[in-house]
Amino acid sequence: LTFEELNLSPELLKALYVEMKFEKPSKIQAISLPMILNPPHMDLIVQSHKGSGKTICFVIGILSRVDPEIKSPQALCICPTRELAIQNLEVLRKMADYTGITSESAIPMDSIPRYKRPPITAQVVIGTPGNTLYLTSAKKLGVNYVKILVFDEADQIFAEDGFKDDSLRIKKIIESFGSHCQVLLFSATTFNESEKFVSKIVKKDHNQLF
Ligand code: AMP
Repeated sequence: LTFEELNLSPELLKALYVEMKFEKPSKIQAISLPMILNPPHMDLIVQSHKGSGKTICFVIGILSRVDPEIKSPQALCICPTRELAIQNLEVLRKMADYTGITSESAIPMDSIPRYKRPPITAQVVIGTPGNTLYLTSAKKLGVNYVKILVFDEADQIFAEDGFKDDSLRIKKIIESFGSHCQVLLFSATTFNESEKFVSKIVKKDHNQLF
């Protein structure tokens, strides 16, 4: 499989070849991307080891599915740590620069208290669970147009001690997105303890890839 065969936009192809210097999709990209990109845009659990190219799976998925004409958040990516959120945002921005799609982080900032933070207008938002939840419940992050929700290192997010409190709120948010929102879970390990919760956040009708 080639990137062309995935019907990616010319801008994304340029970003992949010229900016990232990739030649072809990695194995996990070749398997997951057709399901991410094509209707019915089913929910997906991707369990795959570090270094397999998972980040680019959701970066391509997000940048392909966001409508550049709609100037509201359309994709959310939730990460277990600030560092990972920043790192993912850097990768996404490298490629997003070719498409004109805007992005912003939703992580706690030392410089300003969160209630003073201006509303988020970017099309892609990458953040940590608590901060993203705060911004949505404070209506500083609109969810009406969100059509793709990614949990990166989902096993780590769900293993967090504080997560039990967040989990109910995350479920509420997902419900508010409605059934049109595609949920993608990426994880380096299999889910065990958190499995019950996982089954609540992906739709019954989902695919699982190993
Ligand atoms: P990840 O598993 O997302 O942490 O990615 C591991 C590494 O593989 C990163 O350095 C990526 O830049 C690289 N990578 C991702 N996709 C590809 C690809 N299709 N071809 C070559 N390298 C890739």
